[in-house]
Amino acid sequence: MNDNWSDVVAAFESLWEGPSTEPVPDEQEARMRCHVMSLAEEHDVRCREEDIHVFAAEGPLDAESRSVIVPRLSSELAYLVALHEIGHLALRLPSYEEDGTTRIFANEASVWEWAIDASLLPPSEDAVDKIRLTFVVDEPRDGRAAARDRVMRRCAERRAAQ
Ligand SMILES: [Zn+2]
Repeated sequence: MNDNWSDVVAAFESLWEGPSTEPVPDEQEARMRCHVMSLAEEHDVRCREEDIHVFAAEGPLDAESRSVIVPRLSSELAYLVALHEIGHLALRLPSYEEDGTTRIFANEASVWEWAIDASLLPPSEDAVDKIRLTFVVDEPRDGRAAARDRVMRRCAERRAAQ
């Protein structure tokens, strides 16, 4: 990995810094973990926490393996990302077309809506900003903006209802 690439990675990672990625108090972390694990059990999903960046979370690689890898559940954003990964399996909506590289943004929107609805708390403004970032990718494709707008609307509704 050369220096330029490290700079790019650092710049990308800095976009993700904010209150929603800061550690939460222990009792909140315990509550979030308990919720994630009970949802995982409810939907027959094996959920493993690892020390990975929030954008490195992984859903199932194939339809049969009902397991996900999620970031350590110590921040609001990690919690929401974990709900999102479980949502892919709960709704049976994959991230990619069968070619394995083409994102299905309508599915991403439906899964985020599920995660926002499932969350114990409405998303913070900073978390909403970070969720918006997940739709900023360098692969032009019809439906991305519409998908992002759907998710932003659901976040706003949930925040307004609190
Ligand atoms: Zn997804």
